[in-house]
Amino acid sequence: TPAVVWFRDDLRVRDNPALRAALAHGPTVAVYVLDEESPGIRPLGGAARWWLHHALKDLAASLEHLGVPLVLRRGTAAAIVPDVAAQCRAGYVAWNRRYGGPERRADTAVKSLVRRSGREAESFQASLLHEPWDVLTQQGGSYKVFTPFWREVSGRDHRHPLPEPERQRTLPERVPISNDLEEWELLPRDPDWSGSLAEAWTPGEQPGHALLGEFVGPDHADTALAEYPETRDHPARPGTSRLSPYLRWGHLSPFQVWHAVADRRRAAPEGSAVFASELGWREFAWHTLFHHADLASVNLRSQFDAYPWWLPRASNGAAQHGPHDAAHGRAPEGTPAVVGGEADARRLLEAWQRGRTGFPLVDAGQRELWATGWMHNRVRMVSASLLVKNLGIHWRLGERWFWDTLVDADAASNPFNWQWVAGSGADAAPFFRIFNPRAQAKNFDPDGTYARDWIPELGTDEYPQECVDLAETRVAALEAYQSLAQVD
Ligand code: FAD
Repeated sequence: TPAVVWFRDDLRVRDNPALRAALAHGPTVAVYVLDEESPGIRPLGGAARWWLHHALKDLAASLEHLGVPLVLRRGTAAAIVPDVAAQCRAGYVAWNRRYGGPERRADTAVKSLVRRSGREAESFQASLLHEPWDVLTQQGGSYKVFTPFWREVSGRDHRHPLPEPERQRTLPERVPISNDLEEWELLPRDPDWSGSLAEAWTPGEQPGHALLGEFVGPDHADTALAEYPETRDHPARPGTSRLSPYLRWGHLSPFQVWHAVADRRRAAPEGSAVFASELGWREFAWHTLFHHADLASVNLRSQFDAYPWWLPRASNGAAQHGPHDAAHGRAPEGTPAVVGGEADARRLLEAWQRGRTGFPLVDAGQRELWATGWMHNRVRMVSASLLVKNLGIHWRLGERWFWDTLVDADAASNPFNWQWVAGSGADAAPFFRIFNPRAQAKNFDPDGTYARDWIPELGTDEYPQECVDLAETRVAALEAYQSLAQVD
């Protein structure tokens, strides 16, 4: 019988179990739904929309080689997927699982509608090495601390990537009408700011594999993977893999990356282990989101609800990403404790966004983010720390900025890491460890190469003074923290 495969955050044809299962059933049609309407689904940020446009073009071309048409639709998944299945006269619908709360609710609705119409519906594990419900503590709860989590799962077997699918012999007879990708207007216009993104990235499956191949290199000791433990913290050196957007959009599966790295275990034992544990942090973030669907809006450690971070009321109400947002948006408004007043907080937020704080490491990072949709991990940590600890601005505002500007912004890693930096999250950095952006620059960009790369006016009158006093704001932040009830 004809089959439908529903693509989501898994925009690849290799190692895609849902696609394989559909092809095994019969003539297959693929569908992608731009769903900005299902309750709670968070609309994509600007950089993500740019990436998605190119990713869908790439996917359509790869699917065409397999004889599989890609149907694009915009609207509510629960309305569209069953309708496409009916139009194809499909007996079988398959997809790879998602783990966010609203996404799971949408998928459950689709599954029951498809089944109610007499069709089979099946979902697969493809985006995580471990299903969240398979990794529980002895007490049956979720892991709150990374090290025991990783100790538990890293030794388990991880299936090998699936063999490449072959071109389907019988083409589908009924192919529903597709939207025109251009009409979705995912690309920025007026102004078109995407030129520097396109210089930095080629979205798609093959470019992802090329990058992975380059990073793990041949089977000897002189590769980026082997040097990763040394170079990964230095933003001026291309020491990290830059695979994050390819994993975010599912051009690469974690199984492909895991095995590519594991195959180099002998030549690069330390690099492989350190890199694998970074994949572990990705898993841990997704597991945390699975157990806390409101990760982007609610402090995991609730005593932080009383921390006097600045969060304007309007922004608090307007950006309701989850059902709990309204109930938990309890941050005191307009009373920034760490720096001056409301106007100051707004000015500081803007200076941070634009890369004009006067702290070169942070400013370089924010400009790299704006230009390329990506920022080095070390700089993400320092920049986030300055925002939430020295500028006294709520992590949710930083999280939203990253959501809009990162090409790798994902529903788990972004809020998870913001809460990690803020101190309010799972296995978070202790609040009292406040990064000093000057000391961090000395350690990780000692000759200032990274800063100069991104800040042409550095060292001239045009470059701003430091926007806050680090010592004063540090003391104010620690005092505010001391006044919180220490619950756990
Ligand atoms: P590598 O060092 O090569 O790591 C390999 C892979 O491991 C990454 O591609 C990524 O998938 C995963 N990984 C590494 N570190 C982390 C981490 N701390 N948490 C989760 N996964 C990790 N990462 C995202 O993928 N999306 C986000 O939206 C995101 N937001 C962040 C926000 C803040 C405030 C901070 C501090 C970090 C954030 N990260 C996020 C994590 C990390 O910074 C990026 O994954 C990393 O910089 C991507 O570059 P890379 O692929 O070269 O990393």
